[in-house]
Amino acid sequence: MADFPLAIKKLIGGLERLPGIGPKGASRLVFYLLNTPKSFVGDLSKMLLALEEVKICQNCFGVADREKCSICADLKRKKDLICVVEGSIDVMALEAVGGYKGVYHVLGGVINPLDHVGPDDLKIVELVERVRQLENGHEVEIILATNPTMEGEATAMYLKRKLEALDKNIKISRIGSGLPMGASLEFADRATLSRAMEGRRDI
Ligand SMILES: [Zn+2]
Repeated sequence: MADFPLAIKKLIGGLERLPGIGPKGASRLVFYLLNTPKSFVGDLSKMLLALEEVKICQNCFGVADREKCSICADLKRKKDLICVVEGSIDVMALEAVGGYKGVYHVLGGVINPLDHVGPDDLKIVELVERVRQLENGHEVEIILATNPTMEGEATAMYLKRKLEALDKNIKISRIGSGLPMGASLEFADRATLSRAMEGRRDI
């Protein structure tokens, strides 16, 4: 690509690092953008820059506009019903289904020794502390909604042990069947996700 303008080569190089976009896809996008009105390209670059302003909620570690995300700040949400997910994208998928009245806790991944991700790399201590601080006296339910992969299952079992060690009145459930093994919440359709949440079972 020696003869192509540097701006084009640079953007192709940047886009091809994104998941699901190879060098060909990146080139296609860049030449598509070159042929769209300049105002769209300008707007798009502002949208990208605005991502830098996104914050992490200090309570659930999901994405937020301010220190607390809109879900944690919502007084109508049950604070003693916590759905534990791998990433913020899972929160988005579950919220799109609708009907869930609790709050979330975003781990930031799963335990995966092959990728050198241990419990300390995830927001596990924070989850245990959050649950510990919940008022005694009424039932607490923690839904473990990590993906039904090997790592997701292992992480759920690890969390279960940690939460049980709290010696609190906690109902621990695992997101239900319907999600095939190896699937991810992110790509599941709404009906499947809704069934999986309703069909959660105690573990
Ligand atoms: Zn939050």
